Amino acid sequence: MPDPSHSTSSLSRIAARLGVDAAFVVFVSLWLLALCTATAIYLVTGRHIDMCAFRLATGYPCATCGGTRAALCAVKGDLAHAWRYNPLATVLVFLLPLYAMLKVFHVRTPPLPPRARAAAVAIVAILIGLNWWYVATHLPAAERAAVTSPAATP
Ligand SMILES: [Zn+2]
Repeated sequence: MPDPSHSTSSLSRIAARLGVDAAFVVFVSLWLLALCTATAIYLVTGRHIDMCAFRLATGYPCATCGGTRAALCAVKGDLAHAWRYNPLATVLVFLLPLYAMLKVFHVRTPPLPPRARAAAVAIVAILIGLNWWYVATHLPAAERAAVTSPAATP
């Protein structure tokens, strides 16, 4: 029988290493498990399971809604459908591997001057806001099109 104190201390060590609470690590792990399960169901059956707490509570999509479907379409090379699901997620599919490569190869970028950094933060905030507006106004139609046209589903 496994020692429960061992798994608790492992969880605590992971949480301490990440600088977060152990409950947060459990929550994120369960959420990732649910996301992977929902993605697997989507890939096998084509049926989308909405996991967005914001959308379930308000009825409106959040800024990241459609992101998983956008990423799946983008990976398959279907950029048009990826964009309709979530433009920001579509762009991130290409930027995140680039960022990871910079980190893996320890490529150092020069620090931005404070004004340029503030401008970059403002631009990113505006892009996230525009993405949210786009998702809120286009995602329901993209979902209806995917349901009515099986060929459109990834
Ligand atoms: Zn959402």
